Amino acid sequence: MTLPHPISGRLFGSPVPPASGWPDDPASPGTPIARTHAEVLTLAADCDLTELDARVSVCRACPRLVAWREDVASDKRASFAGEPYWGRPVPGWGDPDPWLVVLGLAPAAHGGNRTGRVFTGDRSGEWLFAALHRAGLAELPTSAHSGDGQRLTGARILAAVRCAPPANKPTPAERDACAPWLAAELALLPRARVVLCLGGFAWDVALRQLATAGLPVPRPRPVFGHGAVATLGEFTLLGSYHPSQQNTFTGKLTAEMLDEVFVAARELGGPHVR
Ligand code: SF4
Repeated sequence: MTLPHPISGRLFGSPVPPASGWPDDPASPGTPIARTHAEVLTLAADCDLTELDARVSVCRACPRLVAWREDVASDKRASFAGEPYWGRPVPGWGDPDPWLVVLGLAPAAHGGNRTGRVFTGDRSGEWLFAALHRAGLAELPTSAHSGDGQRLTGARILAAVRCAPPANKPTPAERDACAPWLAAELALLPRARVVLCLGGFAWDVALRQLATAGLPVPRPRPVFGHGAVATLGEFTLLGSYHPSQQNTFTGKLTAEMLDEVFVAARELGGPHVR
Protein backbone atom coordinates (compact mmCIF):
# COMPACT_ATOMS: atom_id res chain seq x y z
CA MET A 1 0.00 0.00 0.00
CA THR A 2 1.31 3.46 -0.84
CA LEU A 3 0.67 6.50 1.36
CA PRO A 4 1.34 10.23 0.85
CA HIS A 5 4.53 11.86 2.13
CA PRO A 6 3.33 14.46 4.68
CA ILE A 7 5.01 17.37 2.90
CA SER A 8 5.40 16.50 -0.77
CA GLY A 9 2.15 14.52 -1.02
CA ARG A 10 3.86 11.98 -3.27
CA LEU A 11 2.97 8.35 -2.72
CA PHE A 12 5.47 5.87 -1.27
CA GLY A 13 5.50 2.32 -0.03
CA SER A 14 6.95 1.38 3.37
CA PRO A 15 9.87 0.85 3.51
CA VAL A 16 10.58 3.54 0.90
CA PRO A 17 12.17 2.04 -2.25
CA PRO A 18 15.58 3.60 -2.98
CA ALA A 19 15.64 6.41 -5.54
CA SER A 20 11.85 6.69 -5.66
CA GLY A 21 11.71 10.44 -5.06
CA TRP A 22 11.68 10.73 -1.24
CA PRO A 23 13.09 14.16 -0.28
CA ASP A 24 16.87 13.96 0.27
CA ASP A 25 17.04 10.22 -0.54
CA PRO A 26 20.75 9.89 -1.42
CA ALA A 27 20.43 6.51 -3.19
CA SER A 28 20.37 5.94 -6.92
CA PRO A 29 19.17 2.80 -8.72
CA GLY A 30 22.79 1.64 -8.97
CA THR A 31 23.86 2.22 -5.38
CA PRO A 32 25.66 -0.94 -4.20
CA ILE A 33 24.13 -2.76 -1.22
CA ALA A 34 26.20 -4.12 1.67
CA ARG A 35 24.69 -7.46 2.75
CA THR A 36 27.46 -8.60 5.11
CA HIS A 37 29.74 -6.97 7.64
CA ALA A 38 32.67 -7.55 5.30
CA GLU A 39 30.85 -5.74 2.51
CA VAL A 40 30.28 -2.74 4.81
CA LEU A 41 34.04 -2.53 5.24
CA THR A 42 34.60 -2.67 1.49
CA LEU A 43 31.86 -0.26 0.48
CA ALA A 44 32.70 2.29 3.17
CA ALA A 45 36.13 2.75 1.59
CA ASP A 46 36.98 4.87 -1.42
CA CYS A 47 33.89 6.98 -1.89
CA ASP A 48 32.94 10.61 -1.37
CA LEU A 49 30.40 11.84 1.16
CA THR A 50 27.46 11.83 -1.25
CA GLU A 51 28.12 8.25 -2.29
CA LEU A 52 28.74 7.22 1.32
CA ASP A 53 25.31 8.56 2.32
CA ALA A 54 23.79 6.61 -0.56
CA ARG A 55 25.52 3.36 0.40
CA VAL A 56 24.55 3.73 4.05
CA SER A 57 20.92 4.31 3.09
CA VAL A 58 20.57 0.88 1.42
CA CYS A 59 22.71 -1.23 3.79
CA ARG A 60 21.32 -4.66 4.80
CA ALA A 61 24.26 -6.08 6.73
CA CYS A 62 22.55 -6.69 10.11
CA PRO A 63 19.67 -9.16 9.70
CA ARG A 64 18.05 -8.43 13.08
CA LEU A 65 18.02 -4.67 12.49
CA VAL A 66 16.85 -4.97 8.88
CA ALA A 67 13.91 -7.08 10.05
CA TRP A 68 13.08 -4.72 12.91
CA ARG A 69 13.23 -1.46 10.93
CA GLU A 70 11.09 -2.96 8.16
CA ASP A 71 8.58 -4.49 10.59
CA VAL A 72 8.14 -1.10 12.30
CA ALA A 73 7.74 0.54 8.88
CA SER A 74 5.06 -1.93 7.94
CA ASP A 75 3.14 -2.03 11.25
CA LYS A 76 3.47 1.70 12.08
CA ARG A 77 2.40 3.51 15.22
CA ALA A 78 -1.34 4.33 15.15
CA SER A 79 -0.69 8.08 15.15
CA PHE A 80 1.38 7.73 11.96
CA ALA A 81 -0.76 5.09 10.27
CA GLY A 82 -1.51 7.41 7.35
CA GLU A 83 2.16 8.05 6.52
CA PRO A 84 4.79 6.06 4.69
CA TYR A 85 7.78 5.00 6.81
CA TRP A 86 11.34 5.30 5.51
CA GLY A 87 12.29 1.94 7.08
CA ARG A 88 15.92 2.10 5.88
CA PRO A 89 19.24 3.07 7.48
CA VAL A 90 19.43 6.78 8.24
CA PRO A 91 22.57 8.45 6.86
CA GLY A 92 24.38 11.44 8.37
CA TRP A 93 22.70 14.74 7.64
CA GLY A 94 23.59 18.43 7.71
CA ASP A 95 26.51 20.56 6.60
CA PRO A 96 28.82 18.51 4.34
CA ASP A 97 31.83 20.44 5.70
CA PRO A 98 31.04 21.00 9.39
CA TRP A 99 33.23 22.02 12.33
CA LEU A 100 30.82 20.26 14.71
CA VAL A 101 29.67 16.64 14.58
CA VAL A 102 26.69 15.73 16.76
CA LEU A 103 26.73 12.00 17.44
CA GLY A 104 23.64 10.15 18.64
CA LEU A 105 22.95 6.50 19.35
CA ALA A 106 20.64 5.30 16.56
CA PRO A 107 17.48 6.43 14.74
CA ALA A 108 14.24 6.23 16.69
CA ALA A 109 11.76 3.63 15.46
CA HIS A 110 9.03 6.21 14.80
CA GLY A 111 11.34 9.21 14.35
CA GLY A 112 14.25 8.85 11.93
CA ASN A 113 13.04 5.43 10.84
CA ARG A 114 9.80 7.13 9.74
CA THR A 115 11.09 10.42 8.31
CA GLY A 116 14.40 9.24 6.85
CA ARG A 117 16.30 12.02 8.62
CA VAL A 118 18.29 11.63 11.79
CA PHE A 119 16.66 13.06 14.98
CA THR A 120 13.68 14.18 12.92
CA GLY A 121 10.08 13.56 13.90
CA ASP A 122 10.44 12.69 17.58
CA ARG A 123 10.66 14.43 20.95
CA SER A 124 14.44 14.12 21.24
CA GLY A 125 14.80 15.82 17.89
CA GLU A 126 12.50 18.65 18.96
CA TRP A 127 14.90 19.41 21.81
CA LEU A 128 18.04 18.98 19.72
CA PHE A 129 16.96 21.08 16.74
CA ALA A 130 15.58 23.84 18.96
CA ALA A 131 18.98 24.01 20.66
CA LEU A 132 20.81 23.94 17.32
CA HIS A 133 18.64 26.84 16.17
CA ARG A 134 19.32 28.85 19.33
CA ALA A 135 23.03 28.19 18.77
CA GLY A 136 22.85 29.56 15.23
CA LEU A 137 23.49 26.18 13.62
CA ALA A 138 20.00 25.34 12.31
CA GLU A 139 17.81 27.35 9.97
CA LEU A 140 14.57 26.37 11.75
CA PRO A 141 13.74 25.65 15.41
CA THR A 142 11.85 22.50 14.40
CA SER A 143 12.59 19.38 12.38
CA ALA A 144 9.35 17.73 11.47
CA HIS A 145 10.08 15.74 8.34
CA SER A 146 12.38 15.35 5.36
CA GLY A 147 11.61 18.09 2.89
CA ASP A 148 10.59 20.64 5.57
CA GLY A 149 13.23 23.23 4.59
CA GLN A 150 15.45 22.62 7.63
CA ARG A 151 19.15 23.23 7.02
CA LEU A 152 22.25 23.01 9.21
CA THR A 153 25.29 25.28 8.86
CA GLY A 154 28.52 24.25 10.58
CA ALA A 155 27.03 21.09 12.07
CA ARG A 156 26.29 17.57 10.89
CA ILE A 157 24.34 14.95 12.83
CA LEU A 158 25.33 11.28 12.70
CA ALA A 159 24.14 8.16 14.46
CA ALA A 160 26.62 5.63 15.81
CA VAL A 161 24.34 2.86 14.52
CA ARG A 162 22.36 3.75 11.41
CA CYS A 163 19.34 1.47 11.81
CA ALA A 164 16.66 1.71 14.47
CA PRO A 165 17.30 -1.06 17.03
CA PRO A 166 14.71 -2.81 19.22
CA ALA A 167 14.49 -1.06 22.61
CA ASN A 168 17.17 1.39 21.40
CA LYS A 169 19.76 -1.28 22.14
CA PRO A 170 22.04 -2.42 19.32
CA THR A 171 24.18 -5.44 20.13
CA PRO A 172 27.96 -5.04 20.31
CA ALA A 173 28.20 -6.95 17.01
CA GLU A 174 25.77 -4.53 15.34
CA ARG A 175 27.64 -1.55 16.77
CA ASP A 176 30.89 -2.88 15.36
CA ALA A 177 29.33 -3.80 12.01
CA CYS A 178 28.16 -0.22 11.53
CA ALA A 179 31.45 1.32 12.68
CA PRO A 180 33.07 1.48 9.21
CA TRP A 181 30.31 3.82 7.98
CA LEU A 182 31.00 6.19 10.86
CA ALA A 183 34.78 5.94 10.47
CA ALA A 184 34.54 6.72 6.77
CA GLU A 185 32.23 9.66 7.38
CA LEU A 186 34.50 11.21 10.03
CA ALA A 187 37.44 10.85 7.65
CA LEU A 188 35.46 12.74 4.99
CA LEU A 189 34.85 15.75 7.29
CA PRO A 190 38.26 17.46 7.33
CA ARG A 191 37.16 20.60 9.19
CA ALA A 192 35.40 18.69 11.99
CA ARG A 193 37.04 19.41 15.34
CA VAL A 194 34.39 18.76 17.97
CA VAL A 195 32.32 15.60 18.37
CA LEU A 196 29.36 16.30 20.64
CA CYS A 197 28.38 12.91 22.03
CA LEU A 198 24.74 12.63 23.09
CA GLY A 199 24.84 9.98 25.79
CA GLY A 200 27.33 7.40 26.99
CA PHE A 201 26.86 5.02 24.06
CA ALA A 202 27.89 7.72 21.57
CA TRP A 203 30.82 8.72 23.80
CA ASP A 204 32.06 5.13 23.90
CA VAL A 205 31.69 4.68 20.14
CA ALA A 206 33.51 7.96 19.42
CA LEU A 207 36.41 6.95 21.67
CA ARG A 208 36.62 3.56 19.93
CA GLN A 209 36.51 5.13 16.49
CA LEU A 210 39.21 7.69 17.12
CA ALA A 211 41.41 5.09 18.84
CA THR A 212 40.99 2.78 15.85
CA ALA A 213 41.96 5.68 13.59
CA GLY A 214 45.25 5.83 15.53
CA LEU A 215 44.55 8.85 17.72
CA PRO A 216 45.94 8.66 21.26
CA VAL A 217 43.30 7.96 23.92
CA PRO A 218 44.15 9.67 27.21
CA ARG A 219 44.86 7.45 30.24
CA PRO A 220 42.83 6.90 32.31
CA ARG A 221 40.17 6.44 29.67
CA PRO A 222 37.91 9.55 29.65
CA VAL A 223 34.62 8.97 31.43
CA PHE A 224 31.32 10.19 29.97
CA GLY A 225 29.43 12.92 31.76
CA HIS A 226 27.45 16.02 30.90
CA GLY A 227 30.09 18.59 29.97
CA ALA A 228 32.93 16.04 29.95
CA VAL A 229 35.75 16.91 27.55
CA ALA A 230 38.44 14.68 26.07
CA THR A 231 41.08 15.58 23.52
CA LEU A 232 42.31 13.02 20.99
CA GLY A 233 44.64 14.48 18.41
CA GLU A 234 42.82 17.23 16.53
CA PHE A 235 39.42 16.09 17.84
CA THR A 236 37.73 17.17 21.04
CA LEU A 237 34.97 14.98 22.42
CA LEU A 238 32.31 16.79 24.39
CA GLY A 239 29.70 14.89 26.39
CA SER A 240 26.04 15.79 26.81
CA TYR A 241 23.16 13.95 28.35
CA HIS A 242 20.97 12.59 25.56
CA PRO A 243 17.84 14.72 24.95
CA SER A 244 15.66 11.65 25.47
CA GLN A 245 12.25 12.05 27.05
CA GLN A 246 13.57 10.20 30.07
CA ASN A 247 16.15 12.95 30.62
CA THR A 248 14.12 15.99 29.59
CA PHE A 249 10.90 15.01 31.43
CA THR A 250 12.80 14.45 34.66
CA GLY A 251 14.81 17.65 34.39
CA LYS A 252 18.11 15.75 34.23
CA LEU A 253 18.70 17.70 31.00
CA THR A 254 17.29 21.23 30.65
CA ALA A 255 17.27 23.54 27.64
CA GLU A 256 19.79 25.75 29.44
CA MET A 257 22.15 22.80 29.93
CA LEU A 258 21.92 21.97 26.24
CA ASP A 259 22.58 25.60 25.30
CA GLU A 260 25.66 25.62 27.52
CA VAL A 261 26.98 22.55 25.73
CA PHE A 262 26.72 24.27 22.35
CA VAL A 263 28.48 27.35 23.74
CA ALA A 264 31.25 25.05 25.01
CA ALA A 265 31.44 23.31 21.63
CA ARG A 266 31.92 26.61 19.85
CA GLU A 267 34.62 27.66 22.30
CA LEU A 268 36.43 24.35 21.82
CA GLY A 269 36.31 24.13 18.04
CA GLY A 270 34.18 26.79 16.39
CA PRO A 271 35.32 28.42 13.16
CA HIS A 272 37.34 31.05 15.08
CA VAL A 273 39.45 28.36 16.82
CA ARG A 274 42.07 27.65 14.18
FE1 SF4 B 1 24.07 -1.57 7.90
FE2 SF4 B 1 24.66 -0.19 10.09
FE3 SF4 B 1 22.13 -0.83 9.57
FE4 SF4 B 1 23.87 -2.75 10.26
S1 SF4 B 1 23.18 -1.01 11.55
S2 SF4 B 1 22.36 -2.84 8.60
S3 SF4 B 1 25.78 -2.00 9.30
S4 SF4 B 1 23.46 0.55 8.36
